[in-house]
Amino acid sequence: MNVPLLDLNAQLEPLRAEILEKITAVVDSTRYILGPEVVGLEQEIADYCRAGFGIGVASGTDALLASLMALGVGPGDLVVTTPYTFFATMGSILRLGAQPVFVDIDPVTFNLDPDRLGEVLADKKIREKIKVILPVHLYGQCADMDRIMALASKNRIPVLEDAAQAIGSVCPMMENGQTVWRKAGAIGVAGCFSFFPSKNLGCMGDGGMVVTNDEELAEKLTILRNHGAEPKYYHAVIGGNFRLDALQAAILRIKLQHLPAWHVARRRNAARYNKLFRQAGLLDAGVIETPAAVFREEAGKEKTEVDFHIYNQYVLRTRDRDRLLRFLVDHSIGVEIYYPVPLHKQKCVSHFGYGDLSFPEAEKAAAETLALPIYSELTAGMQEYVVSRIKEFYS
Ligand SMILES: *Cc1c(COP(=O)(O)O)cnc(C)c1O
Repeated sequence: MNVPLLDLNAQLEPLRAEILEKITAVVDSTRYILGPEVVGLEQEIADYCRAGFGIGVASGTDALLASLMALGVGPGDLVVTTPYTFFATMGSILRLGAQPVFVDIDPVTFNLDPDRLGEVLADKKIREKIKVILPVHLYGQCADMDRIMALASKNRIPVLEDAAQAIGSVCPMMENGQTVWRKAGAIGVAGCFSFFPSKNLGCMGDGGMVVTNDEELAEKLTILRNHGAEPKYYHAVIGGNFRLDALQAAILRIKLQHLPAWHVARRRNAARYNKLFRQAGLLDAGVIETPAAVFREEAGKEKTEVDFHIYNQYVLRTRDRDRLLRFLVDHSIGVEIYYPVPLHKQKCVSHFGYGDLSFPEAEKAAAETLALPIYSELTAGMQEYVVSRIKEFYS
């Protein structure tokens, strides 16, 4: 059996005719950049995230870059983030001449650890230079935003969410003594999404979006994404070409209608893996650890139908990871390591001297984790095959 890491064809098949029809309509409209399809998508994504505004941009990376620009990040500034994420999180900081300050991750969720964040913020010399806190909702589960937001507001530092992998994911926030469930991206001052094809909501090229509840920030981002022009040909600020195109927006508007059902399917697949691994005795043997949905456990049984984790990736912690990876690839199972090199060890930041620092949880995660296929159309038979091969590897 062949089990790919992702099968975009399976997702495309039922939508193909509708998408092609819409593409034809956009082609015939000759409105290719921004325009009504982008405005429509911005409203729909904002509504979906329960945010006030959406600003369509050309990629998740541009969403991060434009947001950091809008928040005034520049040379000499520090931005707090995690060393265990996709490169774009750090790349956007570096491109503005700012420097990342890394905070190690929580070993259970792989997200920025609020305890470690508190330690960094306690250092006055560092704290004074921190312009933004940039947590990532890795693999589709929110960072502990309740604690991160509390620390940030105490120190008056804005929080920008890298929600590229977590569109639709919910996070419990304590508000006036009550738990309120907020959506990823709409908790901090702004949130960044990516529509890269492998994200839960993916387009057919590159695309991204910033959501925010801050009208002034939304206005700034709208100007920045178009070279900083306001009005046309007048530039009080320097922006870039971060615009989203109409074809991608039109495709995304069709796909967005299916996103809740796709999330349900990914959640079902995750639950199925969890059960299969337990039945195979692999959890008790301590050779693998399945991913935790920590907020689900917090919320209890009555909330099992909520998107606590949208499983953009289903990531195991394993013993003997590299050999397992080769074994699975040899058995035609698509697996991937997200991410093999923590960001503080990347060559492009070697001049900062991060090599002397240690982020043991990020380093351990980079050495021990493995992502399995989890896409919505994955079948029970495929999952049984994956688990039985893993069982065979450890027996
Ligand atoms: C995908 C991703 C990005 C970048 O998005 P692009 O659309 O590929 O530019 C940024 N951060 C994280 C965590 C991502 O997963």
